[in-house]
Amino acid sequence: MNKQRQTSNGVNKKIPVGILGATGMVGQQYVRLLADHPWFEVSYVAASPQSAGQKYKDALKSGWQVPGEVPAYVAGLTVGDVANVKRAADSCAFVFSAFEIPDKEMIKSIENSYAAAGIPVFSNASAHRGTANVPMLIAEINPHHLDIIPHQQKANGWKKGFIVVKPNCSLQSYLTPIHALISSGFEIEKLILTTMQAVSGAGYPGVASLDVLDNIVPFISGEEEKTENEPLKILGELKGSKFIPKKDLVISAHCNRVPVSDGHLACVNVQFGKKKPTVRKILDIWKAFRGLPQELDLPFAPKHPIIYRDEPDRPQPKRDRDADKAMAVSVGRLREDTVFDFKFVALSHNTVRGAAGGGILTAELALKKGYLEV
Ligand code: NAP
Repeated sequence: MNKQRQTSNGVNKKIPVGILGATGMVGQQYVRLLADHPWFEVSYVAASPQSAGQKYKDALKSGWQVPGEVPAYVAGLTVGDVANVKRAADSCAFVFSAFEIPDKEMIKSIENSYAAAGIPVFSNASAHRGTANVPMLIAEINPHHLDIIPHQQKANGWKKGFIVVKPNCSLQSYLTPIHALISSGFEIEKLILTTMQAVSGAGYPGVASLDVLDNIVPFISGEEEKTENEPLKILGELKGSKFIPKKDLVISAHCNRVPVSDGHLACVNVQFGKKKPTVRKILDIWKAFRGLPQELDLPFAPKHPIIYRDEPDRPQPKRDRDADKAMAVSVGRLREDTVFDFKFVALSHNTVRGAAGGGILTAELALKKGYLEV
């Protein structure tokens, strides 16, 4: 188990953590959500070289984009340069990575240098999602994938450091309900997904207002490929030091940018294998579903990871994205389909459940599973 400052009920001295890309949309959510975290406290923030050296509140070029005010605890912290690993190593025990640069190889190399310096990285970037020994976590679905960490460390010669990534925000609305069905013995053969994704998913300033107001943009670069491929790793098996992607599941996705501030919604058509559940059975499975974060009662775990809305016109981004600290997935409109077996609608908050909140939950899990030596 971890040798850190933990009591049976939590942590008696908070663990210092850093946020890379702290000035961006996702970074600001980390800053906000960690303000009162029972185990972690933000001791370090970093962003681009242009922001480095400024006070955090002055480095927010595009302003504070998330609810509330800039928390007092972070306003006066001096922003570091993401590339300055040594400064991070002197300031925090692990980092949440949410910086964005166009060169994915550069992101990989920077994240690797943190892990090599003994700093675990919980990343929201896509750069390492395809790396064979990097786990891609949705804490309720594949918590056991964290068990690849010792293999990753051995392969890279890293001692305390490691890298864990979050998947793309587009798939976090529907994958937990799908996983709940598969893990209850109902194999799924085909999924057709049509996502309607909020503008905050593109960071700040994201899509120009004149392009998206009164409009829908039926293209988000790279998003459909991620939506079709990433679930196969997440739902796959960990065998020793290797992930075996899920076979026999085919996903086809349409991803659209819509004029909504926060909350990605997906319309999902499902085709089961030989064994098909009834509508009643599906609802019972969703209602009863709990994952390891709920069993461990982790601070960021929603009480009910899947909330089913009976109303015919729910879930809706405006009304349902904040369900259970914005960490629950809201599902509705389950009905029989005329082409596949069933269809339903699913929603999750993209910068919370799909990004910062999900990253925090993953770090809580890694701590409880003994992978964070702090
Ligand atoms: P964003 O709002 O554009 O923020 C980008 C961050 O990266 C800022 O802190 C920025 O710092 C920093 N940055 C820019 N250039 C840099 C450089 N050369 N070196 C170091 N840092 C640099 O983006 P975001 O939406 O927060 O997304 C951050 C990451 O999370 C991306 O990988 C994205 O794909 C992923 N993600 C986003 C969402 C979402 O819903 N938005 C969901 C899941 C995952 P400055 O302020 O100093 O420029």
